[in-house]
Amino acid sequence: MPGSMLDTMPTSLRDEAVELLRELIRADTVNPPGNETRAAEILRAYLEANGVACELYARSPERANLVARIPGSGDGPRLLLLSHTDTVLATPEEWTVDPWSGALQGGCVWGRGALDMKGQVAASAVAIASLARESFRPAGDLIFAATADEEVGEDEYVGLRWLCEEHPDAVRCEYAVNEGAGDRLELGGRVFYLCSSAEKTSSPFRLVVHGRSGHAAQPGIADNALVKAALLIERVASFREEPQLGPETEGFLAAVTGTVPPAAEALETARKVDPAAAEVLEPLLSMTMAPTMIAASDKRNIIPGVCDVTVDCRLRPGQTQEEVDRGLRDWLGEGDYEIVWREGQGGTRSPLDTPLWTAVEEFVSRTEPGAVPVPSCVAGFTDSHWLREAFATVAYGFFPMKEMDADLASRLIHSADERIAVADLELGTEFLRHVAISLAPA
Ligand SMILES: [Zn+2]
Repeated sequence: MPGSMLDTMPTSLRDEAVELLRELIRADTVNPPGNETRAAEILRAYLEANGVACELYARSPERANLVARIPGSGDGPRLLLLSHTDTVLATPEEWTVDPWSGALQGGCVWGRGALDMKGQVAASAVAIASLARESFRPAGDLIFAATADEEVGEDEYVGLRWLCEEHPDAVRCEYAVNEGAGDRLELGGRVFYLCSSAEKTSSPFRLVVHGRSGHAAQPGIADNALVKAALLIERVASFREEPQLGPETEGFLAAVTGTVPPAAEALETARKVDPAAAEVLEPLLSMTMAPTMIAASDKRNIIPGVCDVTVDCRLRPGQTQEEVDRGLRDWLGEGDYEIVWREGQGGTRSPLDTPLWTAVEEFVSRTEPGAVPVPSCVAGFTDSHWLREAFATVAYGFFPMKEMDADLASRLIHSADERIAVADLELGTEFLRHVAISLAPA
């Protein structure tokens, strides 16, 4: 590796994680096209130099996934530190630094992917490398996987889904720590850290409205599908589901408010403790629907006979399309339209009464006495889904963030001037080491 971090002797795990992260950011892995092999090679050089055996798995040569492991001594549970190496694109003109510079400024490492999620890639790698140097021998394998293609993942799968299907033995595990949460919240004067244990199902659908085409100069003899769609779009946008509780929202309410009220009173109960608690809770209580795309006539002078509206829809974990379809048709009423569902993605959950949760709890209270983790459900999609489906893995999204404000972090993800606080990188590295040690006593 030219200019590798290994040229200089790291003085601490923090510096080691910082240097590795800067090197990873300098490797442009914007997806598409990805080129994740660049990141995989950096990680391989680093891990092998620290005595951790690595394997590259690539469906196409430029898009390698790296899997490394410290083999277990017996038959304890396997723990996977999961991360992805691809990033979304960056528009350099919007940034105050070069997005691929890995600049170290003002206590932060700057660059595309610093938060999503090369920071956690680096922290996970340093966690397993440092444990290997200490001759750590877990009961079950400690696995590190830095995978390709989390951000796009359409059509031809090359990342974790492909690994689960084609190389299941490489990534099979009982427990996994991935991205998804770790936000620090102060609610009603107490400190909580979000730990995501579930995700909504991304389940878009098309609302196809039918009319009759005709010349635009004689609107009277046609039946304009675009005009008919307008009313239906408003109905879709105003569709509200009755709030429902699930294990994550019940856990959140119990921790934050000390009680689990009926679903209809959940928001009010949370609001009494802190308005911000209600804000966190609200999107988790019901499914959401948002019309986002539309296509009608492609000629100005032709009245469209069909109008095709795409609706972004996020179901609660476990909720089915059939259930929503029924409710939506009742709400829209009779009409000349079809609802065409696309395949849903995500929607899995992991239980909360697990040794992994206990490990998160221990770490959080050690970091800040009195603080507790609370379960959350991510609105988007993460790779945890593939592990839960393939191996019934208990997978949580957790990378604690104490130094940087959670609101700022969520604004920086996928945006300009993305950066991670060095203090958080260090905290995350400590957390991942803590999980490995507490889950895998030899
Ligand atoms: Zn991500």
